[in-house]
Amino acid sequence: MTKFVFVTGGVVSSLGKGIASASLGALLESRGLKVTLIKLDPYLNVDPGTMSPFQHGEVFVTDDGAETDLDLGHYERFIETRMKKANNFTTGQIYKSVLEKERRGDYLGKTVQVIPHVTNEIQDFIKRGAGYGTEDAVDVAIVEIGGTIGDIESLPFVEAVRQLSLRLGPNQAAFVHLTYVPWIAAAGELKTKPTQHTVQKLREIGIQPDALLCRADRAIPDDEREKISLFTNVALWGVISMPDVDTIYRVPRVLHEQGLDGLICDKLRLNTPPANLKRWDNLVHEVLNPQREVSIAMVGKYVDLSDSYKSLNEALRHAGMKNHAKVSITYIDSENLESETVEQLERFDAILVPGGFGKRGVEGKIKAARFARETKVPYLGICLGMQVATIEFARHVAGLTQANSTEFEPEGAQPVIALITEWKDEDGTIKTRDENSDLGGTMRLGAQSSDVAPGTLAHSIYGPVVTERHRHRYEANVAYLDQLRKAGLVISALTQREHLTEIVELPQAVHPWFMGVQFHPEFKSTPWDGHPLFNAFVKAALDHQTAQSTQKAVT
Ligand code: GLN
Repeated sequence: MTKFVFVTGGVVSSLGKGIASASLGALLESRGLKVTLIKLDPYLNVDPGTMSPFQHGEVFVTDDGAETDLDLGHYERFIETRMKKANNFTTGQIYKSVLEKERRGDYLGKTVQVIPHVTNEIQDFIKRGAGYGTEDAVDVAIVEIGGTIGDIESLPFVEAVRQLSLRLGPNQAAFVHLTYVPWIAAAGELKTKPTQHTVQKLREIGIQPDALLCRADRAIPDDEREKISLFTNVALWGVISMPDVDTIYRVPRVLHEQGLDGLICDKLRLNTPPANLKRWDNLVHEVLNPQREVSIAMVGKYVDLSDSYKSLNEALRHAGMKNHAKVSITYIDSENLESETVEQLERFDAILVPGGFGKRGVEGKIKAARFARETKVPYLGICLGMQVATIEFARHVAGLTQANSTEFEPEGAQPVIALITEWKDEDGTIKTRDENSDLGGTMRLGAQSSDVAPGTLAHSIYGPVVTERHRHRYEANVAYLDQLRKAGLVISALTQREHLTEIVELPQAVHPWFMGVQFHPEFKSTPWDGHPLFNAFVKAALDHQTAQSTQKAVT
């Protein structure tokens, strides 16, 4: 039977609850257990798909096409189990489901209430995420509850997991609470009071944590840990110090050395071999000992918040590790590039244009793609980055000077990028979009496979078939593909089902490394192997750097 670990957070948000949960998952996995992670988000949006990356950070996409919280990205990078739609749900989804049941009459005329109807629904969703009672059941499901204890919003979730632990019976569930221990410089002291209060709040709701993960900017000395233990009724070995670390990949080791995995296994009566952290130690070594450094310009819109491109940053770092290089990423706001000179991109070893939505800054991205094509610096365009590379090529090489995407110019004369409904119209006229359409879940989402043309750069990276995840609405318009091909653009992969353009590239005789992909490869990168496309891109950047310095030495 599946056992559960519920992870809550206290004092403030952004303490790294996702990383802590994922690290615990990794530790339990290294003990030979089958583990999954589930994230509960206490907001009313049905999913984060329609939320701005400024508000919520990146939207992570699973193989089965769910738009989820970015913590699921951490989960997939830390543990082996792949995330599915059922691994993340929101208050919005719970209420949607409860209200549908109410309309169908499933509650048989009863008054529908937060307790028990909403809390029961939450428990059902948690069990579904864990595959509870099915053949997909995991040994341990770690359930991370978003928000901070004391929030009105997350209260039904906390109540639901309290009830669930009671229903499951003794030793079937453990509670871990992440808290903050601030260093007060003026007093020269670490303060435990916020932790005392947050645990009090938790105990008021009926939850006694088994372990406290105490986040601080430094290690917490034993006398402070004793004090916390005494005031919170958590055994001393359950008061775990979680200081800031040089790399997130060190966190599993930090938690293991203080016995967190042992404590959880004890509590859940799980008998396992000891944890083996060799591969994590190797990872930390690789991160801290790069042999070279490579500098990549990321030309995007949401550059203010690195969370907006979380998986992408990680994928580039993984590829760096694979190439024994430190990847330094400089975020360039594409909107500034519209008025400023593009020559500022000269100092980089490669240029990357990531995914994005909306018109703002798009001409700057087109300028960046042009600069990369003309100066032969390695270019990787992801999703929107592929679309702008295609528009750029159409305008400046294929003679389609009006080329654009209907996303930015709905009535444009040469819509080389457009919605399928626009370019598939039978009499050849461009249909206008339905402005009232429901924005949630109308995109091409999740994993799809395409065939890769032999002899292409893409083929040398992926082999004959590529399966990657998608999140977009617009596609390269078939009506212009022949013209683009004739002008020298290589369409190196088409989807198996609908023959949609998946990868475009320049022939290697023309440009050493120029590629645009309609999918989001960053979602599948792991620290263990990196990702073939990013590994190749970072290698191309390193080769470019070498070639440049040899050239400088000669001249
Ligand atoms: N806005 C583009 C589209 O919807 C690209 C989306 C993306 O980059 N994720 O097709």
